Amino acid sequence: MSLERGISNNLAELPIITLKGVGDKFVQVLAKLHIHSLQDLLFHLPLRYQDRTRVVPIAGLTAGMDVVIEGEVSAADIVFGRRRSLIVRIQDNSGTLTLRFFHFSAAQKSRFTPGVRIRCFGEARRGANGLELYHPETEVVGSENAVTADTLTPVYPLTEGVSQTRMRGLLEQALTLLKGGAVTELLPAELLPKALRYPLGDALLYLHSPPAGTQLDQLAAGIHPAQQRLALEELLAHHLSLLELRSNSARIAAPPLPVNRSLERDFLSRLPFSLTGAQQRVCEEISEDLAQQTPMMRLLQGDVGAGKTLVAALAALKGIGAGAQVAVMAPTEILAEQHRINFCHWLEPLGFEVAQLTGSLKAAERRKQLAKISSGEALLVVGTHALFQDEVVFHNLVLVIIDEQHRFGVRQRLELREKGSASGTTGRLQPHQLIMTATPIPRTLAMSAFADLDCSIIDELPPGRQPINTVAISDDRRDQVMERVQSAIGQGRQAYWVCTLIEESESLQAQAAESTAEELAEMLEGMRVALVHGRLKPEQKEQVMSAFKAGDVDLLVATTVIEVGVDVPNASLMIIENPERLGLAQLHQLRGRVGRGSIASHCVLLYGTPLSQNGRARLQALRQYSDGFAIAEEDLRLRGPGEILGTRQTGEIQHRIADLQRDAELLPYVQKIAASAKLSAGMRQRLIRRWLQNKPRFAEA
Ligand code: ADP
Ligand code: MG
Repeated sequence: MSLERGISNNLAELPIITLKGVGDKFVQVLAKLHIHSLQDLLFHLPLRYQDRTRVVPIAGLTAGMDVVIEGEVSAADIVFGRRRSLIVRIQDNSGTLTLRFFHFSAAQKSRFTPGVRIRCFGEARRGANGLELYHPETEVVGSENAVTADTLTPVYPLTEGVSQTRMRGLLEQALTLLKGGAVTELLPAELLPKALRYPLGDALLYLHSPPAGTQLDQLAAGIHPAQQRLALEELLAHHLSLLELRSNSARIAAPPLPVNRSLERDFLSRLPFSLTGAQQRVCEEISEDLAQQTPMMRLLQGDVGAGKTLVAALAALKGIGAGAQVAVMAPTEILAEQHRINFCHWLEPLGFEVAQLTGSLKAAERRKQLAKISSGEALLVVGTHALFQDEVVFHNLVLVIIDEQHRFGVRQRLELREKGSASGTTGRLQPHQLIMTATPIPRTLAMSAFADLDCSIIDELPPGRQPINTVAISDDRRDQVMERVQSAIGQGRQAYWVCTLIEESESLQAQAAESTAEELAEMLEGMRVALVHGRLKPEQKEQVMSAFKAGDVDLLVATTVIEVGVDVPNASLMIIENPERLGLAQLHQLRGRVGRGSIASHCVLLYGTPLSQNGRARLQALRQYSDGFAIAEEDLRLRGPGEILGTRQTGEIQHRIADLQRDAELLPYVQKIAASAKLSAGMRQRLIRRWLQNKPRFAEA
């Protein structure tokens, strides 16, 4: 009953401009925070809370606490140390404390006359002489005590143009409307786990204004039932939107691609090895999908070196064997180039032409490649995201293969799919999609982040691989590492030296790699040292890489551009400088560049000191595990899901309140609720809108 009433009540959709004090300009500021309606505002939850409900005795402070304290000024002095600062000492009957200000006016200083009682609010930090408050908010206390707050004070995420005070003011208005029933309960209570039958409105009210005495650590950990109730709903909304994607694609027609047995036999007979059992199984799964009249949406996971490229080639063969076009997309130019070489090597002998399209092609070459693609002269097209551009016109595109999916997001996945149906001659047919990743995705994550995809796993490496022996050595033992390099090269092996930098800037990375290469060339007299980084022209990169492949280079100094896919079996040693700066999954990828032949391989993690505890744990995990899945689980534990899914870069699947790792145990409920007939189609739509409306393409497509 109340649910029905809620539906007719559209208060939640009230545009934000209808609130007091919100004008056109402020609407735009709020839009940056994705706040458009009253509902958005109510779901704009605090990052954390301050406890201004009680005055804490000075003796009771610990570092890191946000506190209100009250005391009498005993001294105020300007100190000329490294920076001019104003130091105020205050005392209550439990102890004394220092307030420190770096920016202050004469008027401010004069407020702190000894004997005056002040109340301050700020974060306690450890200073040179005990605890200090830096730049606290202060007010002089009159004879009657200033009132303390009666709820915890929320601290909201902000953007330029909106202050904490203004945001709190807005929410006060919103909460009044909330108490009047502004949000609709969309989940039937009986579908919720008992512990989370917390009415939505109560949960929101609680989270915006927790009563005095609330345990802050429970809220900070995100495990309060009010938070969990919202997290569950949010996870459900994401899940529903992916399911919707999936069911939409089941209604779309795709060209069935039958197997061409003789072509496949021909292809396989030219390989110097046979498929592993896992490769065979996965190829079967793909064949079955491709034979359907609905688009394949399959995620292929396989550890570094598992042999995904070959599986991709076999899938591609089904498309080009039927005379249609197949696109293979890689995240970097080096990888695209390597794919081109592999595919040419495999497919040209069978009479197929391969086109390549990357961002850096010269105009004339580009035109030539574009013509080959649009005419269908080349049935296999390899490229980077340059393949997305409007001027690319495909010729009967039936299959899109995306390598290293975590670099692309759901959004791009959708765009490419649309592109396939828009260009080409198949009318409204959509191409099949195969998405490959070497970043193993823990099951819980895969279920929620990729609920729109089917999953295949290559869980077996080709025979004869040697495990990579990984050691961690600190920077001050660099000599020892140089000896290792010399000895490996002396034995006719090749090595990588990988430079990492925290800065994302390619030019800085390139500089750092350049100076390292010079230094190493000097120290390793007589050895052939080469350099590759993201700033080189593609021809230059290609030249260096092929020289390394051909064995004409002993030591390749590189930035993380070689992270994925590069394949040189004789390279048996990799030094990674400052590995503590990278995530585990990325390190595992890098390390996977060695150990690709049958030679025993080594990876040296040359870390800078001192190493943080988390850094130590990460390097330890890398030494301990060689299985990408185990490493991914560990990465998830140590760093959270954004890193693994690569959503930090693409800004996707950012939950407002849920945390896939922390809330993993909610996922079974999510699936149960999603499967329930008690959740009507209308409710589903509204849930998606409530939580994902700012990502309309995501929910719609
Ligand atoms: P990834 O899964 O990391 O993309 P690749 O496809 O680059 O791995 O394959 C790694 C190496 O293993 C390549 O040199 C490839 O030729 C080789 N390879 C692939 N499949 C097999 C197999 N069944 N037997 C032996 N070697 C294989
Ligand atoms: Mg690969």
